[in-house]
Amino acid sequence: MSTHVDGGNVVGTTQHDTGVASGVGTTALLVAAARAIETHRHDSLAQDAFAEHFVRAAPASAGWPTRLEHVPDGDANPLWGRFARYFGLRTRVLDDYLLTSVRATGARQIVLLGAGLDTRAFRLDWPPGSVVHEIDRAEVLAFKHEVLDTLQATARAARVPVPVDLRADWVTALTDSGFDPGAPTVWLAEGLLFYLPAAAETSLIATVNRLSAGGSALAYEVKLEPDLMAHRDSPLYISTNAQIGIDLLDLFAKEPRPDSAAALTDKGWSTSTYTPFDFTHRHGRGPLPEANDALAGNRWVFAQKPSGPTSPSRPR
Ligand code: SAM
Repeated sequence: MSTHVDGGNVVGTTQHDTGVASGVGTTALLVAAARAIETHRHDSLAQDAFAEHFVRAAPASAGWPTRLEHVPDGDANPLWGRFARYFGLRTRVLDDYLLTSVRATGARQIVLLGAGLDTRAFRLDWPPGSVVHEIDRAEVLAFKHEVLDTLQATARAARVPVPVDLRADWVTALTDSGFDPGAPTVWLAEGLLFYLPAAAETSLIATVNRLSAGGSALAYEVKLEPDLMAHRDSPLYISTNAQIGIDLLDLFAKEPRPDSAAALTDKGWSTSTYTPFDFTHRHGRGPLPEANDALAGNRWVFAQKPSGPTSPSRPR
């Protein structure tokens, strides 16, 4: 994938928009299948009743399991056991973060970057006046709408789809959709940054900072291992490729990653970085470290921009 950055917008990549049928779009189906499995667990960490409908509706995933009982080796399956539980835990942690952030900061503007099949606009108990902007590529959002329309799903916040490629001029698309850079925002980049080239991540973080009024918050996920290929023969990667034909390592950008937490700190944000395992311990369930672990470098970063005297809208 080749990239250059132009005025805050990342352009010129060769990633194609094939919706959820192939390429990076299929990873949205993978997360949906994991959420479906999590939803039906007796000790579920997160509930997403829409997830299994996405899985069934897409030819690429129609035969995938949506319950652990459908998986012969159950929890021992590296993909539908441990990896799916990882997504269940991640969903729960980020659900909690978003709701805590809107309540604590008074922000009523939420932006989901690379929203995929995230149904938080439909699932979570948003405060009145909340607006959820969902950015993803047009074909992914079109598939999502088709399924949600069939289900006659009702959003629990004002929901604004923003069909745009994050390598194009997404700022114009977002502001045209009603986003107000003068108001605090809660941002989420879940399962996104490692698919983008390093320059795109750097640009995206800088743009988020530029568009964030004081009091804004951001959560994102990164992979920090210096050599992604070191775990190429891990059970997680091997199993995901063998069972559903998704070669995650082929989709991940391989170049060294930027230190986005440091970039945000330089701009005055406060950041906290956690491993997923920190939350496994907190919740009493979830993945634990293992040998040759494809999750070893995964980090969840939470960042807050201080409210300053110039912050135009503070919580009322
Ligand atoms: N955040 C969602 C979630 O956790 O359910 C989706 C995660 S999925 C693993 C990655 C998503 O990033 C896909 O929906 C994909 O279409 C989106 N994505 C990847 N590259 C993108 C780009 N250049 N512009 C917009 N979206 C992109």
